[in-house]
Amino acid sequence: MKYVSTRGGAPSLDFEDVLLAGLARDGGLYVPADWPVLGERQIRAMAGLSYQETAFRVMKPFIGHAVPDADLVRIISEAYAGFGHRAIAPLVQTGRNDWLLELFHGPTLAFKDVAMQVLARLFDHVLEKRGRQITVVGATSGDTGSAAIEAFRGRATSDIFILHPHNRTSEVQRRQMTTVLDANVHNIAVEGSFDDCQAIVKALFNDHAFRDQTALAGVNSINWGRVMAQVVYYFTAAVALGAPGRPVSFTVPTGNFGDIFAGYVAGRMGLPIGRLNIATNVNDILARTFETGRYQVDKVVPSWSPSMDIQISSNFERLLYDAYDRDGGAVQTMMAQQAQSGGFDIDPVRLETLKTTFGAIRVDEDETLATIRSTYAETGEIIDPHTAVGVAAASAARGDGVIPMVTLATAHPAKFPDAVERAIGVRPVLPPRLAGLFEKEERLTVLENDAAAVKAFIRERSRAVAA
Ligand SMILES: *Cc1c(COP(=O)(O)O)cnc(C)c1O
Repeated sequence: MKYVSTRGGAPSLDFEDVLLAGLARDGGLYVPADWPVLGERQIRAMAGLSYQETAFRVMKPFIGHAVPDADLVRIISEAYAGFGHRAIAPLVQTGRNDWLLELFHGPTLAFKDVAMQVLARLFDHVLEKRGRQITVVGATSGDTGSAAIEAFRGRATSDIFILHPHNRTSEVQRRQMTTVLDANVHNIAVEGSFDDCQAIVKALFNDHAFRDQTALAGVNSINWGRVMAQVVYYFTAAVALGAPGRPVSFTVPTGNFGDIFAGYVAGRMGLPIGRLNIATNVNDILARTFETGRYQVDKVVPSWSPSMDIQISSNFERLLYDAYDRDGGAVQTMMAQQAQSGGFDIDPVRLETLKTTFGAIRVDEDETLATIRSTYAETGEIIDPHTAVGVAAASAARGDGVIPMVTLATAHPAKFPDAVERAIGVRPVLPPRLAGLFEKEERLTVLENDAAAVKAFIRERSRAVAA
């Protein structure tokens, strides 16, 4: 499988190089040169398979010969061995034809585990083969950092450095990162905001000498390996609900557009998808884009669903590339306009075509809490605020109810106990396998808000520098 850049100005790469590259050299994102298609018979044959077996069949066409079959089977098996539910991503019925797809049974209780656990092992495989060592660096306001640390802990081929804003994450989120004591895990608490952390990470990647010396790698949501691993649960859910014999619709709490883009990929691969609803919180750039045809970056507003407090929805570029019939020049022009003036217009005809599949719904702060309350009252399920944004959007976009509607439940409620308690007066408890989190030893280093200090810290500890 060959991969091409959405901006048309970078060399095409194979799977291994795309995995390690992250961004393309022209600033674009890599996508497969062609969408692999699974026939109706192949999809039907997924009925009754385990999550892991389906994962192999869905990911294999994207990976090709880069990973031998036996290794891919082992990677998938190990990735999901630590999940707290045997189905990995179980469906829970909440209405006559309404479902929650629970994606929070991984080690850090948010959906990012589902892909990150696979990604870290794919990295390991490729790096071992090449005899290489990398330094993974990322900034986090919570979910991404803990999922990455859990996935990369103890790996021989990588050291991981995660920056978080000192004293500005929730205690659960901080402890999920800082109680991981493996020697290759380094938590840096920056005396500053999340934006400061992100600015430092950007500065590290822009310092090419440093980047080469430390063999820097990123694991943010634009990494193709993460999108690929997320396509799997659209297949397992839809097949369980009758696909390919009938279509299934999905509503997805959305920030960076990676998760919902995976649903679009499933559709391109032949899965019959009714509608894909983009659910946003008050940071509603995508809802505004679908309403007005203009993608215009605004200020980020803090909300009850912080993992969706994003204005630049990076993976949307991948959808635009297809919407413009894979014209990299057109995407390049729009992205240049965004860099210059914070926005661009989408051609009305292309937008209408997108609307035949996608809808976009904004859910405000009061509706988010009201939905946690009503879901609890009506079904007994306690949902987290991100999932609540999805459930509220799904009910607004419900239609006639003939096509099953699956809402992605992206975090465990105990990860966001304050919002849940505010809504229903009940403080959700951590699952037993996470009990003890508050007693464990923590390790972190506080550094000043300064890229040079962070660079020095990484240089001293990264095994890639010595190699
Ligand atoms: C990251 C995250 C999201 C948003 O996912 P994207 O792929 O960025 O759209 C939604 N909910 C939770 C809990 C998350 O951690």
